[in-house]
Amino acid sequence: MITVEDLDRWLRLSAERLHAEAERLTELDSAIGDADHGTNMTRGFTAVVQKIDTAAATVQERLKSVGMTLVTTVGGASGSLYGTFFLDMGRNSPAEASMSAEQLAAAMRAGVAAVIARGHAQVGDKTMIDAFQPAIDTLSEKLDGGASLAESLQAASAAAAAGCESTKPLVARKGRASYLGDRSADHLDPGAASTAILWAALADAES
Ligand code: ADP
Ligand code: MG
Ligand code: MG
Repeated sequence: MITVEDLDRWLRLSAERLHAEAERLTELDSAIGDADHGTNMTRGFTAVVQKIDTAAATVQERLKSVGMTLVTTVGGASGSLYGTFFLDMGRNSPAEASMSAEQLAAAMRAGVAAVIARGHAQVGDKTMIDAFQPAIDTLSEKLDGGASLAESLQAASAAAAAGCESTKPLVARKGRASYLGDRSADHLDPGAASTAILWAALADAES
């Protein structure tokens, strides 16, 4: 069972860790992008946390509000893509104060599908999808196999981290890094790194 309070714990922990890792994320983006990913994520999640105390009775409302906040406060690709993730996760969450583990997984899967529909990236294109897709697949697989939500989220978080690592040798085919062609290889993708941070925060918020 995931309540609005659980989501809020996730969002706060995400904001803290994105803040703590902002320099690293920006460094990754300076190698293959425009050196703003840490700043973008910090700005977005600071705004998300500031809005947490305004009333949102349902998990659907909370997630949709996070998506709107990210779309409106973060410039760049990541703002619209993470905004899309949370908006569609919210649209696919129940208009209730809590949701089941299966409902959480279904909502997150819908969020990932929306990011893919918007950005047209597939696994292997060196984007956040390289972390998102294995994470959501692992979450579903573990839950289907009867694992607890906490255990399933830990496994999903490990899959997101491994997916992030997998971006290092890849040549980027989407986003700003793709302008570099072969020179984008040998660097981690910054968006995959922030996605791994979000999944780790969710696992730790639910443990
Ligand atoms: P910008 O590139 O506009 O400066 P950010 O630096 O905040 O935005 O985010 C860059 C990240 O966005 C990339 O590392 C990548 O993971 C992700 N990204 C960019 N384009 C796409 C896309 N089409 N699909 C999925 N993710 C993408
Ligand atoms: Mg950037
Ligand atoms: Mg930018």
